[in-house]
Amino acid sequence: MAGPLETPAPAVTGSVHSWDISTGVDGPGTRFVVFTAGCPLRCVYCHNPDTWFGRTGQRMTASDVLALAARYRRFICAAGGGLTVSGGEPLLQPAFTRALLAGAKELGLHTALDTSGYLGARAEDALLDATDLVLLDIKSFDPAIARRVTGRGIAPTLAFARRLAARRQPVWVRFVLVPGWTDDPGNVAALARFTASLGNVERVDVLPFHQLGAAKYAALGLDYPCAGVTPPTAEQIGRARAAFTAAGLHAI
Ligand code: SF4
Repeated sequence: MAGPLETPAPAVTGSVHSWDISTGVDGPGTRFVVFTAGCPLRCVYCHNPDTWFGRTGQRMTASDVLALAARYRRFICAAGGGLTVSGGEPLLQPAFTRALLAGAKELGLHTALDTSGYLGARAEDALLDATDLVLLDIKSFDPAIARRVTGRGIAPTLAFARRLAARRQPVWVRFVLVPGWTDDPGNVAALARFTASLGNVERVDVLPFHQLGAAKYAALGLDYPCAGVTPPTAEQIGRARAAFTAAGLHAI
């Protein structure tokens, strides 16, 4: 296993919003999570609008980030975790993301990429080769709902999902359940059928909308479209999970 000073990540730089250690939400085990800055989507429910703008991030080299991760390597490995590149949108900076993932592999870490897939065409095969798990956030199957929720189309994400399936790359699909926005039963059922058809999706995380990001919109002087939205009830969450389970998927 390489030490931090031997990490062969090139001196490619990227814009980093922050980094953190997390358990349970960003892939298996305890993970070092790099949040890259910049995102082309504007999800109405985004709880991290402070990651939208690449110019607000801190310029760092991949080696700098990996040296931070290397400090936790023993702890992370013992906890069955790894390194996750999240955002913002990591594929807005594909060279940097690739360097992080490849460097993490050199450190002996399990790697995960958390992406909306909207820029999936920018992910070279070499980047995906260095990725053990893709956390694919599919905002909606219905294109009209996707556009209303994100401001962009869903076709690039679905194409990326099919490409990952063709590569037999392990994927966890994540779907944020937002009452009145994404919870149309026909949309959820169609997304479940599509997800089940891929054959490479190990699990589906139905993530209930929450209001924890509201204060950030106020602080940034941004309108918050979901200000009046109530988080889904346990029954609503259960119904969405059941739709994925009925399609033969492991939904949690
Ligand atoms: S893709 Fe993620 S970071 Fe970008 S706007 Fe949507 S929720 Fe926020």
